[in-house]
Amino acid sequence: MLRPNGITMLAPPPPLDVRNHALFLDLDGTLVDFAAHPEHVVASEELRLLLADLSRAMNGAVALITGRTIASADAVLDGALVHIAGIHGVERRTGSKIEREPTHNASIQSALNDARALIAKGALQVDLEDKGLALALHYRRAPEFADAARRAAAEIAQRHALSILEGKMVIELTIGQRTKADAVADFMAAPPFANRNPIAVGDDITDEDAFRAVGTFGGHSILVGPPRETAARYALGDTRAVFAWLQAGLAS
Ligand SMILES: [Mg+2]
Repeated sequence: MLRPNGITMLAPPPPLDVRNHALFLDLDGTLVDFAAHPEHVVASEELRLLLADLSRAMNGAVALITGRTIASADAVLDGALVHIAGIHGVERRTGSKIEREPTHNASIQSALNDARALIAKGALQVDLEDKGLALALHYRRAPEFADAARRAAAEIAQRHALSILEGKMVIELTIGQRTKADAVADFMAAPPFANRNPIAVGDDITDEDAFRAVGTFGGHSILVGPPRETAARYALGDTRAVFAWLQAGLAS
């Protein structure tokens, strides 16, 4: 169905099939609601138990793919999921092993110093988040300064040869060109993900990379939130709808 602005209304997704699907889940805005600051976000015990149960039912083929660091995602989910790609795929945990790529962060530290200097001068109004291998500029508390933050981020990125990823109320500077698509491909290359049909669920612009990636593996995607231009085929309204869909899949 087409709406007047040309954006397609997406149907609700078909049921989750725990025997054949692999799940790639975003965290913020998908499984948990946003808070004023990322550190204030916590998952309910209900959600943590559901994710752990799903992971068991799906032979481990449930991965979190988030812009957060693995450590930060663990703090939210209290270790409910083993498989996590952090910082949009820059770091990845499979079992007890963590891979990081690349391993140096000198240019992130230089960028952090530049951003701090701009903030001290009053030229930049953002909350900085040092992710070690990435730097996030959050403007959720001052959205009117989004354009100024974008300009500052572009300058800093150019100076230190960093890439820019834009998300909801956040601009991230990262080393290298990794996206959530790379994280999906890495997980799909090995068990328990390989040979399963991948489903990606996410709300943000950076999730579109995962949406396109699961398409190349014959899977499909679920956009969380209001309609927009997207590579996803299905949609769910909010985090509560995602919870209900996961729960129904586990029960079936
Ligand atoms: Mg998100």
